[in-house]
Amino acid sequence: MRRPLRIIDAMLSAPGLPGFVEAAVRIGVQVGVRLGSTLLGVSPPRGRSRSRRGPDLFWPLAVLALAGAIGCSVGPYDMDQLEREHPALGAVSQHRLSDVTPYLLPAGGSVAFFLCRWPADAPIPVSLPPDASAEERRGLESVLRAWEGAGLGVRFTTAGVPGAGIEIRFIDPEAGATATAYAANTIADCAVAPEALAMQSANVLPAKLVFASIHLWRGGFDRLGRPDPHSQDEFIGSALHEFGHALGYQGHASVGRTIMVKETDATRWAARSVLKGEPFSDHTLRALYALPSGTVIKRVTIAAYRTDTVDRMAQYASERGLAGPFVRVGDLDGFLAWRGETGHPYVMQVRDVRKVLRDPDTLWVQVPLAVSELLDAD
Ligand SMILES: [Zn+2]
Repeated sequence: MRRPLRIIDAMLSAPGLPGFVEAAVRIGVQVGVRLGSTLLGVSPPRGRSRSRRGPDLFWPLAVLALAGAIGCSVGPYDMDQLEREHPALGAVSQHRLSDVTPYLLPAGGSVAFFLCRWPADAPIPVSLPPDASAEERRGLESVLRAWEGAGLGVRFTTAGVPGAGIEIRFIDPEAGATATAYAANTIADCAVAPEALAMQSANVLPAKLVFASIHLWRGGFDRLGRPDPHSQDEFIGSALHEFGHALGYQGHASVGRTIMVKETDATRWAARSVLKGEPFSDHTLRALYALPSGTVIKRVTIAAYRTDTVDRMAQYASERGLAGPFVRVGDLDGFLAWRGETGHPYVMQVRDVRKVLRDPDTLWVQVPLAVSELLDAD
C-alpha cells in the first residue's frame, strides 16, 4: 500500500545549511563517534574526580527510570496560569500548545522553557526554492496565503533570499528512502538577547525567531526502488505542516485538529481544503501567536554546576562581543550557539529536551572539545 502513514520530519539532520547548522551537524558526528570518550558534559560536582565519560555516571539508572515514570503522568506546563498571565491565550480554544517542545535557556542555575515566534509587525521574508516548477511555486504560494489567513497576524514576502528569513529548499530523498512517509524537515532558530541569561524571574524573555529552513522532498521511492512522487495534496500538506515548525511550533501535537499532528490524514485533509481555496486556520499556531515571543512557560531551578558550561560560554561571548545565544530545538535535542565576527559558530548541545522538561536535573550540556578547551583556557 502506497499511502503515507506518518510525517517523518526529524529535525536537525540536514547538512550544508547556513548559520550554525553545519557546526551542529559536526557536533552530531562527534557525538556519534566520540560520545563517552572525549566530549565534555557538565562539570561534575566538586569533590568528584572529573569524568571524561559524560554525566551518565552521576545518575543512577533507578533515578532516571523513576523520573520517566513520573513524567508520563504529569503535564509539563500550567496552561491555566499561562492564560491568567496572557488573557489573549484564553480566547483561543481547543489548541494543543501543551504538546509543544519548548525552546530552552539553561543559565545561572535554572532552566527557562520558552516559546519563540516571528514578530508580526513586519512581513517575514520567504525564499522559494530556485528550482521550483511553476506549479510547485503556485502550491507554495497557496501555503503562504493559507498561513496569512490563519489569524496569526503574520505576513510574508517572497522577496527573501536563501540564508535569511524562511528559506524553502527541495532536497533529494536519501538513498533507499521509501514513500511510506512524507519526509521533510525544518529548523527554526530563535535569537535570544544576551541580557536574557540574567533574567531569572522574567515571564517573557527578549527572544524572537530569526531564521528557518524548510526542506521538502518531491517524493520517495516505492518498494521496488522506483521514484514515487508525492501527490499534490501530500506536497501541500507537508509544506503546511513544515511551515508550522518554521513559524515556531516545535514537536508535534499528540491529538487534535491541528496541522501539527504527525498523522498525514490531517495534513492531506487540510491541503485539499487549501487547494480548493477554503479558509485555513490552526488553533494551535494561533495559541502560539496569542502569546508574546519569548513567553516562559516553565522555569525550574537546578544544580548550578549543570548550567556552568553555558554560563562560562556566555561570559566568554560577552567579553568578545559574540552574537547569541541562538537556540534551536528538534524532536529530541536542543542546541545553543554563539557566532563570532567571522560567523564561526560555538555550539552546545542539550540532549533530549523533553526529558529535561520532565526532569530538569537530567540537563546535560555537551560542548565540542575545542570549545571546552577554549573555555578552560579563558
Ligand atoms: Zn513535523
